[in-house]
Amino acid sequence: MVVEQLSKPTEETKARGIGTLATEALWRRGLGPQLQEAHPGGVRELTRDHGSALGHFANIHKLLPDRQRHGTQIWQPELERVLTAHAEALGVPILRGHEIVALESDADGVTTTSRGERRLRAPYLVGCDGGRSTVRKLAGFPFPGTAALSRTIAGRVRFAGDVPASGRYDTGTFLYGGSMAGVSELAVGDEPDGPVTTRELADAIRRVTGSDVVIEEIHDDRRFGDQARQAGTYRLGRVLLAGDAAHVHSPSGGQGLNLGLMDAMNLGWKLAAVVRGDAPEALLDTYTRERHPAGEAVLRNTRAQSALLAPGPHVDALRDIVEELMDIPAANQYFSELLSAVNLRYELPYPAQGPAGRHCPDLELVDDDGNLSRLHEHTRSGRGLLLLTPETRELARFVTGRVEVVPVTNTEPLLLRPDAVVAWASGDGESLGTTLDTWFGHRTPMGRCAPSTRPTSS
Ligand SMILES: Cc1cc2nc3c(=O)[nH]c(=O)nc-3n(C[C@H](O)[C@H](O)[C@H](O)COP(=O)(O)OP(=O)(O)OC[C@H]3O[C@@H](n4cnc5c(N)ncnc54)[C@H](O)[C@@H]3O)c2cc1C
Repeated sequence: MVVEQLSKPTEETKARGIGTLATEALWRRGLGPQLQEAHPGGVRELTRDHGSALGHFANIHKLLPDRQRHGTQIWQPELERVLTAHAEALGVPILRGHEIVALESDADGVTTTSRGERRLRAPYLVGCDGGRSTVRKLAGFPFPGTAALSRTIAGRVRFAGDVPASGRYDTGTFLYGGSMAGVSELAVGDEPDGPVTTRELADAIRRVTGSDVVIEEIHDDRRFGDQARQAGTYRLGRVLLAGDAAHVHSPSGGQGLNLGLMDAMNLGWKLAAVVRGDAPEALLDTYTRERHPAGEAVLRNTRAQSALLAPGPHVDALRDIVEELMDIPAANQYFSELLSAVNLRYELPYPAQGPAGRHCPDLELVDDDGNLSRLHEHTRSGRGLLLLTPETRELARFVTGRVEVVPVTNTEPLLLRPDAVVAWASGDGESLGTTLDTWFGHRTPMGRCAPSTRPTSS
């Protein structure tokens, strides 16, 4: 059940896209056509607003696209509509107008109280309630990190008269892309709240650029800082966190939604298996173990981007050097991969080799009759997948349920978890058995338990 405080979805246009891993994850659940439909228009708007179709690191727009694995430009409200329709089609109840204000957690479950004294009880509660998460605060999760270095106010505006040049100034940055105007300055004092007014934005533009402007109209206004914080653990008993509730950072590089959706992909199948009684509760501990480092990596690169966005001649010099580095193809790829996280590797609780621990790309697969398909065509059910080549087909006898076997002829044998993380690659029957027990066994996620129906290794 989804519990949401707003009575109807917001049209606030925060994120304008999702990254590679989230795009691939949504394709695997059958949402590819909706993403494909939104993407070309999103790319046009991005190019208009940023003045470049290239990706950026700290506003240095030089990142070359990867034609094989890429993200999707889709505005956040549109993505929310796609996800809502998907959840409704699956029969997930969405309870709107329910603001959670209190919770009690015990050995069997969690009871929440919504404004108006409405109470709900469930075996688990996942706080996906954003950067100021009420669930996080009520459950007592530690949330350490660093305060904001800079604050930005922005909005779609109509200027009357001249507009100063976009760029870096002595005390901040002013950017205007023909529609969206934004000003970043060093953070001082308490974080303000409420809508950005035309006056406030014009004052900030004057402070930074020295020019007076007249703003006739502002909409889609927003304010954000670059504080970087992360929950010390993503699970306290029966309460878990995902998305901005678990981590906040600057929007530089557009990574927040991607990170949150991948938290959800990691947690969803584990929680489902535990709730159904198919897996022990300890499986949930692998959630923090795998996703906390992913959050940490984003905090690290967004902090680095904040440092590169600060005003001043020393940072100008550093930016020049980073810009030059980006002309080196290997360095360009390094920065792209920093933002896309395609090389993220989870530490697995057994010896693993090759691609094990990484998210599998949308492989092209060839079956015994030479028919072509894509990986995402086999993943709608959300089960594990065991891709077996003709020489390794006999390993299918190790499979005991919750895993589908796909005969292939053109890849190495692979076992994929429901979140498409490669759990096993090209090993022997014994290592496959250990891996199946770890993720799909009934007793412990740390291996060594053999479901009674599994044959012994030959
Ligand atoms: C200007 C800007 C640009 C951005 N651009 C990008 C981008 O291009 N790409 C990208 O990936 N990310 C971007 N981000 C970040 C991205 O928007 C966030 O990471 C994302 O919104 C986080 O999603 P979430 O579901 O975790 O939290 P939220 O989007 O904050 O959703 C939390 C939900 O919980 C509800 N809620 C809160 N409290 C309660 C309660 N007590 N009871 C019930 N419901 C509650 C809220 O109403 C809300 O619907 C941007 C952010 C900003 C500010």
